[in-house]
Amino acid sequence: MGLPDRDYYLKDDPKSVELRNQYLAHVQKMLELSGEPAAKASADAQAVMRFETGLAKGSLDRVSRRDPDQIYHKLTVHQLYSLDPAIDWPKYLEGMGAPPITDLNVSVPNFFRAIESTIVQSSLDDIKTYLRWHLLHAESSLLPKAFVDEDFHFYREILTGAKEIQPRWKRCVAATDNDLGFALGQKYVEQTFPPDAKARTLKMVQDIEKMLGQDIQSLSWMTPATKQEAMVKLRAVANKIGYPDKWRDYSTVKIVRGDAIGNDERATEFEVHRDVNKIGKPVDRTEWGMTPPTVNAYYNATENNINFPAGILQPPFFDNKMDAAVNHGGIGSVVGHELTHGFDDQGRKFDPDGNLKDWWTPEDAQEFEKRAQCFIDEYSAFTPIDGVHLNGKLTLGENTADNGGVRLSFMALMDSLKDKPQPKIDGYTPEQRFFLAWGQIWCQNVRPEMSRMLVQVDPHSPGRARVDGVLQNMPEFRQAFACQVGQPMVREPACRVW
Ligand SMILES: [Zn+2]
Repeated sequence: MGLPDRDYYLKDDPKSVELRNQYLAHVQKMLELSGEPAAKASADAQAVMRFETGLAKGSLDRVSRRDPDQIYHKLTVHQLYSLDPAIDWPKYLEGMGAPPITDLNVSVPNFFRAIESTIVQSSLDDIKTYLRWHLLHAESSLLPKAFVDEDFHFYREILTGAKEIQPRWKRCVAATDNDLGFALGQKYVEQTFPPDAKARTLKMVQDIEKMLGQDIQSLSWMTPATKQEAMVKLRAVANKIGYPDKWRDYSTVKIVRGDAIGNDERATEFEVHRDVNKIGKPVDRTEWGMTPPTVNAYYNATENNINFPAGILQPPFFDNKMDAAVNHGGIGSVVGHELTHGFDDQGRKFDPDGNLKDWWTPEDAQEFEKRAQCFIDEYSAFTPIDGVHLNGKLTLGENTADNGGVRLSFMALMDSLKDKPQPKIDGYTPEQRFFLAWGQIWCQNVRPEMSRMLVQVDPHSPGRARVDGVLQNMPEFRQAFACQVGQPMVREPACRVW
């Protein structure tokens, strides 16, 4: 689908109808730029819309897709084929160069039923049109300027409210990161991430893990049996910091000056082969799902590891020259956040090895859900733009992780400062500096169009809700800034899971 979510195809409010008309105009324009006469491009855009609407109808909504049980359906290749015989799946897999496989996880079987009915109802020409549009769309950033400008017009101007395209050098860096990210990352790490920064981050991660252990042990709502399992899972979490131990070898990717699309295709082919070659082999847990320059971090539930690329180990998240309070409020809270993902509404369904397996007693699971509901209610009340509420269920995992993460990092900071003098810096106590740092890492300037899109597709709350939503739950914040019950930043009763 070319629109950001299935709901864009299915909702009938005026804004959604308007966006669909703008999308039709965009698809038509791209096809015209590729050489189609206007009348044919217009009819073809309608065919694309019909095809994608068919797929949208079979797509699982984002909230359901967060439930690991709803996206796990182990089928044989032949069962997949019988869901969707319009595509010869055995032949397709063979053509991909995959070794013989008998079964696979078909995340959303209904989607394959939708592919089937959509293909059956489409003419061969319509299918070709659909594929042609997606080829143009996927390569738009590497096509001549008219394509780049039209792509910007719809995907950035209309969908996100952007006023101007990013400078060319930034787009080039992003393209390189996309195609050869670990080669770029090797250079990036050399210049920006010295060994002492890695050592300092690792120490912080270990301190925060210790705090989660203490927190689990002290929980009043969890039974000893589940606590014990949680500790086993916590001890099994692997910490990956900065960059992989082994760099990816791109020497077989042929780069030709002046052949941007060819370079991109060859880089993609390299990645596809690399992935296909993993089939039937043990999982490589040392592999990274984000490139080192990425300003982001993640928890991998099926491998039970936390990953912090060097790109996020930079100001404002982490600053080697700053005091512990600021770094704990920034990157420390992110570390706690990723760690907590292993124990949020999604992560808690995976065992220490990353297998989908329930290790909770029913009573503890129920207690967890009850506490999670408090976050759903709290965050559903935020309205990033007038009349549009956050989706408390879609953002539940991230909000749970934020609340747990900030608390754990705060505990680690207090632990490291105990028995030490706590002078003010720039007029602020360590506690105040901690909370200010959490506010600063989520400082954002977002246009209303972008907010509207993010509310529908982003499992993260917007920056302001990430800050206010966590801090109004924390007695430590109240104390640090002398807030009183009844004031906006004090929530009674507060929500808490971890
Ligand atoms: Zn997260």
